[in-house]
Amino acid sequence: MIAPDLETAVETLREFFNTSQAIVPFTGAGISTECGIPDFRSPGGLWTKNQPIPFDAFLASQEMRDEAWRRRFAMEEQFRAARPGRGHRALATLHRMGRAPGIITQNIDNLHQASGIPAENVIELHGNTTYAICLDCARRYELPWIRERLSAHGQAPDCACGGYIKTATVSFGQAMPERAMRQAEELTLACDLFLAIGSSLVVWPAAGFPLLAQRNGARLVIINREPTEFDDTADLVVHHDIGTVLAPFVGQ
Ligand SMILES: [Zn+2]
Repeated sequence: MIAPDLETAVETLREFFNTSQAIVPFTGAGISTECGIPDFRSPGGLWTKNQPIPFDAFLASQEMRDEAWRRRFAMEEQFRAARPGRGHRALATLHRMGRAPGIITQNIDNLHQASGIPAENVIELHGNTTYAICLDCARRYELPWIRERLSAHGQAPDCACGGYIKTATVSFGQAMPERAMRQAEELTLACDLFLAIGSSLVVWPAAGFPLLAQRNGARLVIINREPTEFDDTADLVVHHDIGTVLAPFVGQ
């Protein structure tokens, strides 16, 4: 069912929340746009102007690694200024109430953690861009340290072990994180209400989760500005601004 108006959408959502045992929110870029984080994949988004650097290119040359870091730091003001939006806060409320044990996200902006959900309950399918790791030994590095060295030496630093240091994100051509994928699958199979929020649901394998939830008997809700290919079979579809739809559920 496509909600005919905002009021019906909120009422139906409330009823679904009240009649579900385990809710799994699955979030994409759309939940963070009101926080000032651009949707890289959208038409006119950063990736249509500036092709993302594939993983093999990052590994292949120092120049590409330097370029990847310069691009990351060009975005730093936006990431640092971003605060959780109404959607994030509503989901944090559901989590606090014990209704949503974990959140699955395609986002790399750390805003679910910033909204108060413990990091172990945020399953990041595409990693996290607010810190970095060594690709060989997995040691964690903080971004200011890398920025300092990049500007002092004109070159991105390597790990003490010799490995390359990269934001903790999953690049194109890089393997999906096994543990996160497994946790996401477990959450999905244990839920009776799957909430797909702000995702176009086209990026695989991430888009397989709503399908898995439905096949397992869960209800599917889609909140997204644009239509998705799951709209026909979803139990509720809301084509409206995410923050506005979820605002009534903040702090309840
Ligand atoms: Zn290392």
